Amino acid sequence: MLKKVLIANRGEIAVRIIRACAEMGIRSVAVYTDADKYSLHVKRADEAHSLGDDPVAGYLDPLRIVNLALQTGCDAIHPGYGFLSENARFAELCEQYGVTFIGPKSSVIQQMGDKTAARDSMRAAGVPITPGSDGNLANLDEAIALATEIGYPVMIKATSGGGGRGIRRCDSEAELRQQFPRVISEATKAFGSADVFLEKCIVNPRHIEVQILADSQGNVIHLYERDCSIQRRNQKLIEIAPSPQLTPEQRDYVGELAVKAAKAVGYENAGTVEFLLTGNQVYFMEMNTRIQVEHTITEQITGVDIVREQLRIASGLSLSYRQQDIQYRGFALQFRINAEDPKNDFLPSFGRITHYYAPGGPGVRIDTAIYTGYQIPPHFDSMCLKLVVWALNWEDAVDRGQRALDDMRLHGIKTTATYYQQILNHPDFRQGHFDTSFVAGHPELLNYSEKRHPSAVALAIATALAAHAGW
Ligand code: ADP
Ligand code: ADP
Ligand code: MG
Repeated sequence: MLKKVLIANRGEIAVRIIRACAEMGIRSVAVYTDADKYSLHVKRADEAHSLGDDPVAGYLDPLRIVNLALQTGCDAIHPGYGFLSENARFAELCEQYGVTFIGPKSSVIQQMGDKTAARDSMRAAGVPITPGSDGNLANLDEAIALATEIGYPVMIKATSGGGGRGIRRCDSEAELRQQFPRVISEATKAFGSADVFLEKCIVNPRHIEVQILADSQGNVIHLYERDCSIQRRNQKLIEIAPSPQLTPEQRDYVGELAVKAAKAVGYENAGTVEFLLTGNQVYFMEMNTRIQVEHTITEQITGVDIVREQLRIASGLSLSYRQQDIQYRGFALQFRINAEDPKNDFLPSFGRITHYYAPGGPGVRIDTAIYTGYQIPPHFDSMCLKLVVWALNWEDAVDRGQRALDDMRLHGIKTTATYYQQILNHPDFRQGHFDTSFVAGHPELLNYSEKRHPSAVALAIATALAAHAGW
């Protein structure tokens, strides 16, 4: 078993990984830049080491991090999500220096992190992919010819893209001409690569992804699916497990496809295979070769601690479960509470958290690195808290989500919490009918009043807070 792990990340996911290490008797080493001196992950780890004064650069410096792991006697590095988590060069550097990278082999990251290479592998493995280009597009003329052949609408996508960026829908040749250079410039700036490709736009699909686990002995299992169709601008807001809108046959089919995809590339550790669904059609979209933000909801419905499994797999142990051991129960929803102002085009709202009261009670889980008095640094992602609820059936899970969002108090910044309550109230959502067009298709849900009618619980909390703070 691993003895000491460096966590090459920050915020809530660093805390999540530190917690798994603590439960397993593995020592944890946090890293931080000056901007993160007061972050919870720094306080919670067994050791913490500085990556310098630049707010971001240290987290993106492979050599510095591998060196630090060696100097502090770590036998492994957990990359979390974002930052270097899907950087094949970083994984390769770990391999060269004999530090275990908690994830797949660098060659597999290379293959799946490049979206066109991943499409090639899946085509070869017999996993259905969206119609589109073979490899990257050479120029605009090639894009226009291909779009004419497969028909509009099409998507132009950055080959090394992620986080919902570098993707544009084009409904006509005129739009394609306009968007093509924009995606190239966005891709170059955000991902350091000008490569783009084209695929058919699946109109109003559902985003269904499957969590898989694979050990070094070649065992691969899936932990069922998550429905991440509630998105804004291709970024996930609310995630649900299992999907309330799959038939048992569809569920088994996507699960088996994901296992097939993972086996085809010799995958190891935790990963997610993302699909688009429309009617009964399923298309592979991409594979994320890392822990995902929404792994929490899969943990709630299956009881499997995914980070623990990652650490076990990286230690060379075989999976703790066979496929037939994996049962799911109830429904879980995750709300990405972002420091953003929904009423102001979701403008980031960084600042100091003057008061924070965490919801609790049955079926509630919180993953966060914030606390009362914490100043959210402006250099990183705006997601500041993940609220997860679980209940035995869909209606109760939605009600529990409402209740937990009502319980929560986060003062000092604007957040997406109240907006999510509007989504939960919508009859289509309550009935479990939604696709990736839901958020854009319901702009009226942004017309809510900031002043909520406090429930009895909320009033009690407010009174308690006021008593403490001397309001
Ligand atoms: P998930 O697929 O786990 O839901 P997201 O797509 O929301 O994850 O991304 C999680 C974090 O990682 C975000 O901060 C996002 O900006 C970042 N990220 C994801 N993919 C990339 C990438 N290819 N390059 C840079 N950052 C990325
Ligand atoms: P990222 O790496 O940024 O997560 P993805 O390829 O996973 O990018 O796409 C993100 C989201 O964009 C999807 O969840 C989906 O909503 C939308 N999307 C991507 N490709 C298509 C497509 N071909 N047709 C329709 N929607 C798409
Ligand atoms: Mg994706």
